[in-house]
Amino acid sequence: MNLDIPNDFNSDSDDKPFVACKVCERDLTDSHTPYTIEKAYKRVDEGEDVTLFEVAICIPCAEKQSKKMSKESKAYIMKMMGGSAFMEKRQNRWDKNWRDDWKSACLFTDENIKINDEYHIVGQFQDGQIIPTMTPFVIGQSYIEEIQENLSIETKEEMDKFGEQFLGPDPALRALLKDHQFVMV
Ligand SMILES: [Zn+2]
Repeated sequence: MNLDIPNDFNSDSDDKPFVACKVCERDLTDSHTPYTIEKAYKRVDEGEDVTLFEVAICIPCAEKQSKKMSKESKAYIMKMMGGSAFMEKRQNRWDKNWRDDWKSACLFTDENIKINDEYHIVGQFQDGQIIPTMTPFVIGQSYIEEIQENLSIETKEEMDKFGEQFLGPDPALRALLKDHQFVMV
Protein backbone atom coordinates (compact mmCIF):
# COMPACT_ATOMS: atom_id res chain seq x y z
CA MET A 1 0.00 0.00 0.00
CA ASN A 2 1.27 3.42 -0.90
CA LEU A 3 1.64 5.42 2.32
CA ASP A 4 3.70 8.24 0.81
CA ILE A 5 2.77 11.68 2.05
CA PRO A 6 1.56 13.83 -0.87
CA ASN A 7 4.01 16.59 -1.83
CA ASP A 8 1.30 19.11 -0.99
CA PHE A 9 2.31 18.61 2.64
CA ASN A 10 5.94 19.58 2.02
CA SER A 11 7.18 22.71 3.75
CA ASP A 12 7.15 25.77 1.53
CA SER A 13 10.52 26.80 2.92
CA ASP A 14 12.47 24.06 1.13
CA ASP A 15 9.82 21.95 -0.63
CA LYS A 16 10.84 18.99 1.51
CA PRO A 17 8.83 17.00 4.06
CA PHE A 18 8.64 18.44 7.56
CA VAL A 19 11.16 16.74 9.82
CA ALA A 20 10.47 18.38 13.19
CA CYS A 21 7.57 19.43 15.37
CA LYS A 22 7.17 23.18 15.18
CA VAL A 23 6.66 23.43 18.94
CA CYS A 24 8.99 20.95 20.67
CA GLU A 25 11.28 20.31 17.70
CA ARG A 26 10.98 16.58 18.21
CA ASP A 27 12.17 14.57 15.22
CA LEU A 28 9.16 13.42 13.23
CA THR A 29 10.86 11.10 10.80
CA ASP A 30 11.50 8.11 13.05
CA SER A 31 10.35 8.90 16.58
CA HIS A 32 7.10 6.91 16.13
CA THR A 33 5.23 9.93 17.47
CA PRO A 34 2.12 10.64 15.38
CA TYR A 35 1.85 14.18 14.06
CA THR A 36 -0.44 16.46 12.12
CA ILE A 37 0.43 18.75 9.25
CA GLU A 38 -1.95 21.56 8.47
CA LYS A 39 -1.46 24.01 5.63
CA ALA A 40 -3.74 26.91 4.85
CA TYR A 41 -4.04 28.25 1.33
CA LYS A 42 -5.86 30.96 -0.48
CA ARG A 43 -6.80 30.24 -4.08
CA VAL A 44 -5.89 33.45 -5.87
CA ASP A 45 -6.48 32.22 -9.37
CA GLU A 46 -7.30 29.08 -11.34
CA GLY A 47 -4.57 26.62 -10.38
CA GLU A 48 -2.78 29.19 -8.26
CA ASP A 49 -2.70 29.04 -4.47
CA VAL A 50 -0.79 31.11 -1.91
CA THR A 51 0.17 29.56 1.40
CA LEU A 52 -1.18 31.43 4.41
CA PHE A 53 0.55 29.27 6.97
CA GLU A 54 1.87 25.79 7.52
CA VAL A 55 2.50 23.83 10.66
CA ALA A 56 3.72 20.37 11.61
CA ILE A 57 2.89 19.52 15.20
CA CYS A 58 3.30 16.30 17.15
CA ILE A 59 0.23 14.90 18.86
CA PRO A 60 1.53 15.46 22.42
CA CYS A 61 2.03 19.17 21.62
CA ALA A 62 -1.35 19.36 19.87
CA GLU A 63 -3.00 17.87 22.93
CA LYS A 64 -1.31 20.40 25.18
CA GLN A 65 -2.59 23.16 22.93
CA SER A 66 -6.08 21.74 22.89
CA LYS A 67 -6.17 21.78 26.71
CA LYS A 68 -5.98 25.56 26.46
CA MET A 69 -9.26 25.70 24.59
CA SER A 70 -12.43 26.50 26.47
CA LYS A 71 -14.68 23.57 27.28
CA GLU A 72 -17.35 24.81 24.89
CA SER A 73 -14.89 25.22 22.02
CA LYS A 74 -13.41 21.81 22.59
CA ALA A 75 -16.82 20.20 22.57
CA TYR A 76 -17.71 22.08 19.41
CA ILE A 77 -14.53 21.05 17.58
CA MET A 78 -15.05 17.46 18.65
CA LYS A 79 -18.55 17.55 17.27
CA MET A 80 -17.42 19.11 13.99
CA MET A 81 -14.25 17.12 13.40
CA GLY A 82 -14.69 13.92 15.37
CA GLY A 83 -18.17 12.90 14.32
CA SER A 84 -18.74 9.37 13.12
CA ALA A 85 -20.10 10.52 9.74
CA PHE A 86 -16.83 12.28 9.05
CA MET A 87 -14.71 9.37 10.21
CA GLU A 88 -16.69 7.02 8.04
CA LYS A 89 -16.44 9.25 5.00
CA ARG A 90 -12.73 9.62 5.52
CA GLN A 91 -12.31 5.89 5.82
CA ASN A 92 -14.39 5.24 2.71
CA ARG A 93 -12.16 7.56 0.75
CA TRP A 94 -9.16 5.55 1.85
CA ASP A 95 -10.56 2.47 0.14
CA LYS A 96 -10.96 4.31 -3.17
CA ASN A 97 -8.47 6.21 -5.30
CA TRP A 98 -8.38 9.17 -2.97
CA ARG A 99 -5.13 10.51 -4.44
CA ASP A 100 -6.92 11.45 -7.65
CA ASP A 101 -9.21 14.08 -6.21
CA TRP A 102 -8.69 14.52 -2.47
CA LYS A 103 -7.80 18.19 -2.88
CA SER A 104 -10.73 19.25 -5.01
CA ALA A 105 -13.50 19.56 -2.43
CA CYS A 106 -14.16 20.02 1.27
CA LEU A 107 -14.54 16.65 2.97
CA PHE A 108 -17.30 18.00 5.20
CA THR A 109 -19.47 19.98 2.81
CA ASP A 110 -18.39 18.51 -0.56
CA GLU A 111 -18.08 22.07 -1.84
CA ASN A 112 -15.46 22.59 -4.52
CA ILE A 113 -12.68 25.09 -3.92
CA LYS A 114 -13.34 28.31 -5.80
CA ILE A 115 -11.18 31.32 -6.60
CA ASN A 116 -10.75 33.56 -3.52
CA ASP A 117 -11.52 30.70 -1.16
CA GLU A 118 -9.35 29.90 1.80
CA TYR A 119 -8.93 26.21 2.43
CA HIS A 120 -6.85 24.00 4.69
CA ILE A 121 -5.30 20.63 4.02
CA VAL A 122 -4.83 18.35 6.99
CA GLY A 123 -3.14 14.97 7.35
CA GLN A 124 -2.04 12.67 10.13
CA PHE A 125 1.27 10.94 9.82
CA GLN A 126 3.82 8.82 11.62
CA ASP A 127 7.48 8.16 10.79
CA GLY A 128 7.15 10.12 7.56
CA GLN A 129 4.19 8.12 6.28
CA ILE A 130 0.43 8.38 6.24
CA ILE A 131 -1.24 6.54 9.09
CA PRO A 132 -3.33 3.89 7.28
CA THR A 133 -7.02 4.83 6.81
CA MET A 134 -6.31 8.43 7.90
CA THR A 135 -6.93 9.91 4.47
CA PRO A 136 -5.64 13.48 4.12
CA PHE A 137 -8.49 15.91 3.63
CA VAL A 138 -9.56 19.44 2.83
CA ILE A 139 -11.51 21.83 5.03
CA GLY A 140 -13.21 24.33 2.75
CA GLN A 141 -14.03 27.98 3.25
CA SER A 142 -17.59 27.68 4.53
CA TYR A 143 -16.68 25.01 7.06
CA ILE A 144 -13.72 27.05 8.29
CA GLU A 145 -16.04 30.04 8.74
CA GLU A 146 -18.56 27.98 10.59
CA ILE A 147 -15.92 26.73 13.00
CA GLN A 148 -14.45 30.20 13.53
CA GLU A 149 -17.85 31.65 14.32
CA ASN A 150 -18.46 29.06 16.97
CA LEU A 151 -15.21 29.24 18.89
CA SER A 152 -15.17 31.16 22.15
CA ILE A 153 -13.22 34.42 22.45
CA GLU A 154 -10.74 32.87 24.88
CA THR A 155 -10.07 29.96 22.53
CA LYS A 156 -9.49 32.37 19.67
CA GLU A 157 -7.04 34.30 21.82
CA GLU A 158 -5.16 31.12 22.65
CA MET A 159 -4.99 30.24 18.97
CA ASP A 160 -3.76 33.72 18.14
CA LYS A 161 -1.02 33.36 20.69
CA PHE A 162 -0.04 30.03 19.26
CA GLY A 163 -0.03 31.46 15.76
CA GLU A 164 2.15 34.39 16.71
CA GLN A 165 4.61 32.14 18.46
CA PHE A 166 4.90 29.29 16.01
CA LEU A 167 3.46 29.91 12.62
CA GLY A 168 6.24 31.95 11.14
CA PRO A 169 8.38 35.03 11.60
CA ASP A 170 7.00 36.74 8.51
CA PRO A 171 5.17 39.89 9.67
CA ALA A 172 2.84 39.79 6.68
CA LEU A 173 1.90 36.29 7.66
CA ARG A 174 1.31 37.37 11.23
CA ALA A 175 -1.14 40.00 10.10
CA LEU A 176 -2.96 37.41 8.06
CA LEU A 177 -3.12 35.05 10.98
CA LYS A 178 -5.29 37.45 12.89
CA ASP A 179 -8.04 36.47 10.50
CA HIS A 180 -6.94 33.02 9.55
CA GLN A 181 -6.70 30.80 12.54
CA PHE A 182 -5.71 27.26 12.22
CA VAL A 183 -8.11 24.50 13.08
CA MET A 184 -6.29 21.68 14.67
CA VAL A 185 -7.64 18.17 14.77
ZN1 LIG B 1 5.89 18.57 19.63
